Amino acid sequence: MSTAKEPACKQCRREKEKLFLKGQRCFSAKCAMERKPYAPGQRAKRRVVETGYCVQLREKQKAKKYYGVIEKQFRNYYEKAVKSKGVTGETLLQLLETRLDSGVYMMGFASSRAQARQLISHGHILINGKKVDRASCQLREGDEVSVVESSKEIVPVIEAKESGGTLTVSEWLEVDLDKLKGKVIRLPERNEIKVPINERVIVELYSK
Ligand code: SF4
Repeated sequence: MSTAKEPACKQCRREKEKLFLKGQRCFSAKCAMERKPYAPGQRAKRRVVETGYCVQLREKQKAKKYYGVIEKQFRNYYEKAVKSKGVTGETLLQLLETRLDSGVYMMGFASSRAQARQLISHGHILINGKKVDRASCQLREGDEVSVVESSKEIVPVIEAKESGGTLTVSEWLEVDLDKLKGKVIRLPERNEIKVPINERVIVELYSK
């Protein structure tokens, strides 16, 4: 599900950080953060003193944009994380990272999480051999993710496959990019989730 109405590059500029929402463009000189690394809008360059609340809010917004989820979904992930036995912030990130769309992206079958969501909703992705069209589907240990045989030649998949070399496959995943198949060996640990998000700040915000 696409979440934000604001164009992807503006979302990055608003967060003053690359969120890698547009695939290969994010690694090129065309990236808006390379050309205009400041918030959009006429008054963007003025100095703003950020309060603690503002920092917490921005961090949460950044996480939502990064994973492409809306507030309600994000809150649900947080509630689930609170009820879990693990550290709340880490579990929150683990839940987001193991969404199917994120998994498809991390395996290199799509060049962005947004593109992964599109592939899933159009029925190009299988989990354990069964078609799944819900991007929020949670991956579990041992799950096998693959691209439908007849979809292996569609342009977005070919492009993602060709550029797959830029993406380092996480240790919690096993990927055969040639066959467009991947497996969840185990759930990711915090140090394997390479996202520029301070989850503790988000937990502080929700704990108020
Ligand atoms: Fe963000 Fe990618 Fe746009 Fe750069 S190209 S601003 S990283 S979405």
